[in-house]
Amino acid sequence: MELSTIHGLRDLLANREISAEELTNQALEKIEKIDDKIKAFVTVTKDEAIQVAREIDQKRSKGESLGPLAGIPMALKDNMCTEDIKTTCSSKILYNFIPPYSAKVYEKLLGAGSILLGKTNMDEFAMGSSTENSGFFPTCNPWDLNCVPGGSSGGSAAAVASGEAVFALGSDTGGSIRQPASFCGVVGLKPTYGAVSRYGLIAYASSLDQIGPFTRDVTDCALVMNAITGHDSFDSTSALVDYPDYTRFLVNDIKDMRIGIPREYFGEGIEPEVEAKIREAINKLEELGAVVEECSLPHTQYALPAYYIIAPAECSSNLARYDGVRYGLRVEDADDIVSMFSRTRDQGFGIEVKRRIMLGTYALSSGYYDAYYLKALKVRNLVKQDFDKAFEKFDCLITPTAPSVAFEFGSKADTIAMYKQDVCTIPINLAGIPALSLPYGLVNNMPVGLQFVGKAFGEGNLLRVAYTLEQNSDQTRLEPSLEGVK
Ligand code: GLN
Repeated sequence: MELSTIHGLRDLLANREISAEELTNQALEKIEKIDDKIKAFVTVTKDEAIQVAREIDQKRSKGESLGPLAGIPMALKDNMCTEDIKTTCSSKILYNFIPPYSAKVYEKLLGAGSILLGKTNMDEFAMGSSTENSGFFPTCNPWDLNCVPGGSSGGSAAAVASGEAVFALGSDTGGSIRQPASFCGVVGLKPTYGAVSRYGLIAYASSLDQIGPFTRDVTDCALVMNAITGHDSFDSTSALVDYPDYTRFLVNDIKDMRIGIPREYFGEGIEPEVEAKIREAINKLEELGAVVEECSLPHTQYALPAYYIIAPAECSSNLARYDGVRYGLRVEDADDIVSMFSRTRDQGFGIEVKRRIMLGTYALSSGYYDAYYLKALKVRNLVKQDFDKAFEKFDCLITPTAPSVAFEFGSKADTIAMYKQDVCTIPINLAGIPALSLPYGLVNNMPVGLQFVGKAFGEGNLLRVAYTLEQNSDQTRLEPSLEGVK
């Protein structure tokens, strides 16, 4: 039996038509068979996975109560700390780092009964849009091995799309869940900033980073959200609000829902075939009863440049801790401590990470702080106000997730071309609001992603509209043939 959805497998597990151990073994066999081509995993935790699966089967046979994800195999991006399991951020500087504690999300998933299959590849420290910046190797797109899976959570997206894992978690600072979800044809959700604990997530840009799920469908997305959201006193930015049961929003009805189409996200810079697909989806939603209207988010064009000041500024500070002293790589035979610091950082960090540390250090340095960093913060506020205003009128907004479908390896060698991958996703992180990418059809045989954007803690509306489209369209559930990997 193929791995499919959480909700499908949950019933099979509950009825004992399959055991957690059998399911885990199937997933591990699939990884063994195809991951030398997909390369989604940095570490496979085979022994641990089988052990946890056996424990779950034993509990079930004793009639003990089990969590809502009991027996479901999943994968975590390799920037989430897992106690006693290597956590590298796909960086040479952390190639040997074994955390002494686990990220809150991992604890929560274990508590829900989920089984960790392994840690997935990413752009080094989550900086990139293709996994080509991984310090180890790039991941391939299961739809076409010559194409990137997107990034930075490319390994998680590819693992779910190829059926290696039932679901996975990624992190999204400027698009790193939604863009790879779009490229690989799976559902990806970046929750509201503060809705999922960042405790144990290795920081890139702390005011933007947020953890979220990759799943095969919208129902699974709601199920994983139920497991990972909630207040956590170990994360000072965690929001103390009431978190709903997200499955409540899985209703096939969007009658009178007000949907805004921000004109700045269409036209120049967006591939015409991708735009045509998005417009097709919008028409479908209108047919289903939504009230659709064009709108404007006038500061959109300033979001990308502001992000490339704020994110590097925060990363230059966050990455100062990798000095070879406490953990990770340390070069041998340095003459003194200063040369040990600088040679460790020189050897341990890749070119994109170094670029951002330098950009950020520059933007924060005295004399430039006001001109760059403070100004970027002001722009961030304007971008947020655009959204606040739009949500006075609309329940949700729709845009493309990415300007194109997945591209070939090496085809975005120009740094700015790569940065532009995130034009449609970055403004959402600056505003701290949630957005969901839903697959919608193919262009040149590669998946397209539709982005639903909601107001803070408005994930419910996003799930509702995505679920309704999913139930009424044959374009939202996509599966690659995996021809090239069999
Ligand atoms: N591609 C963007 C960057 O490189 C976003 C990455 C992310 O969301 N982690 O910064």
